[in-house]
Amino acid sequence: MKLNTPLNLFILLFLCLFTQATAQTLRVGAAVRVITPDPLLPVSGGIGTPKPSMEKKGDLFARAMVFEQGNTRFAIVNVDNLGWTSVLGNKSRALIKGIAPENILIGATHTHSAPDAYGFPDATGKNYADLKYLDRCVQQIADAVNEAIMKLEPAALKVNVEEAKGKIAYNYYAPALYDPRCGVIQAIATTGARQGKAIATLVNYAIHPEVIGSGRGILSPDLCGPLYSRIEAQAGGVALFMNGAQGGMVTADTRLEFGKEGQSSQKEANTWEECIRIGELLADEALRIINKAPVLDAPSIYCTSKMIDLPVDSEMMRYILTNSPLKYEYKKPNTVSTQLNLLNIGPAQILTVPGEALPNVGYYVKRHMATKLPFLFGLTNDAFGYMLAKVDYNSFKRYDYVTRTSLGEMTAEIYMDQALQLIQASPKPVLK
Ligand SMILES: [Zn+2]
Repeated sequence: MKLNTPLNLFILLFLCLFTQATAQTLRVGAAVRVITPDPLLPVSGGIGTPKPSMEKKGDLFARAMVFEQGNTRFAIVNVDNLGWTSVLGNKSRALIKGIAPENILIGATHTHSAPDAYGFPDATGKNYADLKYLDRCVQQIADAVNEAIMKLEPAALKVNVEEAKGKIAYNYYAPALYDPRCGVIQAIATTGARQGKAIATLVNYAIHPEVIGSGRGILSPDLCGPLYSRIEAQAGGVALFMNGAQGGMVTADTRLEFGKEGQSSQKEANTWEECIRIGELLADEALRIINKAPVLDAPSIYCTSKMIDLPVDSEMMRYILTNSPLKYEYKKPNTVSTQLNLLNIGPAQILTVPGEALPNVGYYVKRHMATKLPFLFGLTNDAFGYMLAKVDYNSFKRYDYVTRTSLGEMTAEIYMDQALQLIQASPKPVLK
């Protein structure tokens, strides 16, 4: 082609612009797999022997949402479990075609009514994890992501963060010390038969899904189940839930006497009906928050990651890591390495947390993010227990338990430092 005529130059310019526009089209896909064990398995709410389950309330899921723009592709996955370690996550990453392992974010919802995925050893070193079940979950997670890749389609976005109102969460240790912000990302199909309909809606909120807990003989996604159902019934598409900074001790507000301090456990409603109430209320709030957001026709996305090292000072955490059948491999002595991700999705910025950050740690990181729409994906890529600021560590008696079940005094300090460095080193989200 001769390039020296005005017409040819015009055609070339048009082709360049067209190619760029095509390359920058955002595409999103989502898919779901049921991971309810059949027959049912004992359920685990933390360290200790899992408790037998006699019935189920709702199903456990792996839920995946994949984003693609130009050469950028990443996946967000939520798993209905207490915690999902990188030992398991990396097995799924190896089975996923077309997304770099470091661009795959796998978070646990933290339901306390699902099978043990840590392989918690007891005092004699024995554990009760069903490794065959966990292998099936690994495959199902990969299948969900691979299907979401196949379903990628052009999408617009809605993104918003606002306080969720009503009786949803509170801090069991100090009622008002929690983050009521609910972040929502919704992808909307822009072509085809489902044009204008939701492909997926992701809800980010800090809460312990422990309404039912592990002691009632019930296997359940807890409040996350009714949340998914309500969002999918109202908005269509696939619902995802990513937890937030819910450590020490942001939990579901099951208090029968709303707003009063010092409630005892006898005055709580720990039923499936309460899971439905809270799950559906959070879903309705998330939809209220996202419905008012403008549609972004050409949003940009960005994904980066880095590995961070966290020393394991806690004897108990060392014991678990050494004696779990998942066989965690230390790269350095008594130090765990974990993947930290930063995403920009339209005007929102997202950081992952490899455990249960206390709410003040969450506030600090969100405050330093380059956006008015900050998201934190807690218990994501790893779930190494509680993450307290060093001044909180081993301080109030109230913090004895969360101190014991943390890696050490410096866990949250290192995390905050590394998170802020990653924010500094990354492009700001495009504010449109
Ligand atoms: Zn917890």
